[in-house]
Amino acid sequence: MTKRASGGHKYIFVVGGVMSGVGKGTATASIGKLLTARGLSVNLVKIDPYLNVDAGTMNPTEHGEVFILDSGLETDQDMGNYERFLGRDLGPEDYMTSGMVYKSVIERERNLGYGGKCVEAIPHVRDEIVERLQRSARMAKSDVTVVEIGGTLGDFSNALFIDAARVMHLKHPSDVLFVMVSYLPVPSTIGEMKTKPTQNAVRQLNAYGVQPDVIIARSTHTLDKKRKEKLAIWCNVQADHIISAPDVDSIYDVPLNFERDKLSELLMGLLGKHAKQTPDFSQWQAFVNRAHNGQGSVKIGIVGKYFDTGDFVLSDAYFSVIEAIKFSAYHLGVKPEIAWLNAKDYEGNSASVSELKDHDGVLVPGGFGETGIEGKISAIKFARENKIPYFGLCYGMQLMTVEYARNVAGLKEAHTTEIDPNTKHPVIMILPEQIEKLAKKDFGGSMRLGAYPCDLVENTIAREAYGAASISERHRHRYEVNPDYIEQLSKAGLIFSGVSPDRRLMEIAELSKKEHPFMLGTQFHPEMKARPLSPHPLFNAFLKAAIEKKSA
Ligand code: GLN
Repeated sequence: MTKRASGGHKYIFVVGGVMSGVGKGTATASIGKLLTARGLSVNLVKIDPYLNVDAGTMNPTEHGEVFILDSGLETDQDMGNYERFLGRDLGPEDYMTSGMVYKSVIERERNLGYGGKCVEAIPHVRDEIVERLQRSARMAKSDVTVVEIGGTLGDFSNALFIDAARVMHLKHPSDVLFVMVSYLPVPSTIGEMKTKPTQNAVRQLNAYGVQPDVIIARSTHTLDKKRKEKLAIWCNVQADHIISAPDVDSIYDVPLNFERDKLSELLMGLLGKHAKQTPDFSQWQAFVNRAHNGQGSVKIGIVGKYFDTGDFVLSDAYFSVIEAIKFSAYHLGVKPEIAWLNAKDYEGNSASVSELKDHDGVLVPGGFGETGIEGKISAIKFARENKIPYFGLCYGMQLMTVEYARNVAGLKEAHTTEIDPNTKHPVIMILPEQIEKLAKKDFGGSMRLGAYPCDLVENTIAREAYGAASISERHRHRYEVNPDYIEQLSKAGLIFSGVSPDRRLMEIAELSKKEHPFMLGTQFHPEMKARPLSPHPLFNAFLKAAIEKKSA
């Protein structure tokens, strides 16, 4: 069933059947990876059907990490996976939510942009979706745009997006493909893989007027020939268009696993593309091999707060941090062992901060608000005093500054004004431009967001790690090191090794190597730029110090 090429821009829509959480995002990222390995240029788009205008206002325990793009757009964590798999930055056009789409339609209506017409979900909202997708393709100048439609088939909230895809297919049938990622349960009482939910999901998709071209069959097990044939008959999809996708150890195995069922060849045929006859996976394969073959281990304790949701530990809130640690560990040839340490426990009696002694490195990630704050500060103090490599990200850098001010610079009552607005020593205080925003309760998309340049000071850990005098990193914060305390803190030994080009903002703080093997915090989020094939220089330096501590 090869679709004829029309020569236009190609779109692949990825939809999910049966249930959520089966890896639609990873499948989308993997399809992107496969097509780039075939020499095509690809951009990936995530559609989130919720009404939030961006992901920035959602609690990480409910929705996972907020991933920031260079542009400053606050997006879903899938966008992080897309960038990591593709190995390149994505643009703000590559993300949309229902809220974002509706907001533009309503704004246009208020400006009489619809010429007095009655404005409706169909066609106006749907057309806005189509326009946004076309813009993302134009901006990316790619050959193929792979679009993940969030949610599951049958959801009320993603129907307009599926309809937009249907209309795009109707207008350009040879340029639009549909991939359905479905789930095949193996109930323990039956012990057999069941195809019926997937059959029903395809019918649900058919009810939208859409027929899948490819089915990715997610399951705990490999799909056997018998079930492939059964699915083919009942879903009206050829057996060789059904890709077996059993559970694998790591998401980075997924593209290579899809290749076992020749997914890239299939997609290239369906798209009518002939870029490269054989895909080039050499670098990715080498990375996956390193991930599987690490020698020894390094134990990193993440002291955070977004862990407990009922009985579950939701590490999704720190997804990019974990991945950044992994990439550097693999790069250095060791297996990372990550321990979740709840900062709140260091405030009561449930755990003693001295348990950090058993860790080779301690990391305090980004965060907001008061929960666990003194626990984090205790952890930082312990890491400093016991010379355990420490890496602080955003809040982790601000609290490192507070700890140093209190316990080394002699400013006993030092704090961030985020927690104590009346502190005697506001070493961390609100950015001037944020004051008015908070007063107006203007919380959405209003932090200091996205990529900003940063100059590095010579003869520092940061400068040595990056091997460059100027860098660009992504930010998401409202507070900063108070300029009034820079001199005092510097005199006490805190080195501001990264500063904004106008010298106003302190972007990196560190201790001299003579004082501590690795004590460094960044106001930005380096984890957002760590990639499998280019691990982040600061994570590399942190992990290296942790490995050295272990073997010391
Ligand atoms: N709460 C701090 C601020 O707003 C840190 C933010 C973060 O860690 N992303 O500045």
